[in-house]
Amino acid sequence: MDFLEHWDEGITVIDTGFVRARFDAAYLIVENGRAAFVDTGPNSAVPRLLAALQARQMAPEQVDWLIVTHVHLDHAGGAGLLLQHLPNAKLVVHPRGARHLVDPRQLMAGVRAVYGPEVAERDYGELQPVPPQRVLETHDGMVLALGGRALLVADTPGHARHHHCIWDEASRGWFTGDTFGIAYPDLRTSTGGYAFPTTTPVQFEPEALLDSIDRLLARDPQVMFLTHFGATREVAQHAAMLRRQLDAMVRLARSVAELPDRHARLRAALAALYGAEYRRAGGVLDDERLQELLEGDVELNAQGLGVWLDKQAAAA
Ligand SMILES: [Zn+2]
Repeated sequence: MDFLEHWDEGITVIDTGFVRARFDAAYLIVENGRAAFVDTGPNSAVPRLLAALQARQMAPEQVDWLIVTHVHLDHAGGAGLLLQHLPNAKLVVHPRGARHLVDPRQLMAGVRAVYGPEVAERDYGELQPVPPQRVLETHDGMVLALGGRALLVADTPGHARHHHCIWDEASRGWFTGDTFGIAYPDLRTSTGGYAFPTTTPVQFEPEALLDSIDRLLARDPQVMFLTHFGATREVAQHAAMLRRQLDAMVRLARSVAELPDRHARLRAALAALYGAEYRRAGGVLDDERLQELLEGDVELNAQGLGVWLDKQAAAA
């Protein structure tokens, strides 16, 4: 099945098919006859997630954990529906996100506000509520046992306050959700690739995100499992790119804070920044293709920076 990639250490990368190929990943981890999912994609991904289990000769009863890195819908939109297929699994979620998956009405309203009702329905469908007794809320330092394998939870605010990452000692890798940015395989280059931060509305906090990136690096990871998209071993290189661009994004957001057409200016400045950084990383795609691949993120990042600027102004 071309949407599955079997990695080392019992890890399968599942392309959820959301938006386009190699855009949105979920992961399956198998150890000693037990299984865990990390992130789910939206409802439409559930058949692929179940196919991944089958490809590993695992039954739905053997899944102990359904971990969502945070409750943005490209990561957790399918959690309620998937859980209906997994009789023994607990949903593992950050305490700040749990209530939104138990009662998804607020999440749905947020998505309708950002994308409009038609797109919200088309892309995400109807979110299925998770029964509260099936929810396990995490805390920093919590360890989940998976067939004798330890998965460690780290609280990693910055992209969102309801974000945690999962350390897997067996692969010496982090399941990073959106904390370690985005690196689409389509943007790979001769020097390893291009990564950039994601500042999706509405809880972006730059200082917290930089601290969380430092926390991830402190374990000397060998691999990062990104939701957008896939496993990467270019850890130090990507970390340097993320820090540099976060600094630049904050600077340029501040520089347009008081100007008219702030959102359009932010969009243009972000597109220019990412284009320059991609070229600096050795990227050779033409400008039109690059813009096609990045335009959704440019829009979301500009929105998120705008929300952050408004909060700064309100707090001043
Ligand atoms: Zn996110």
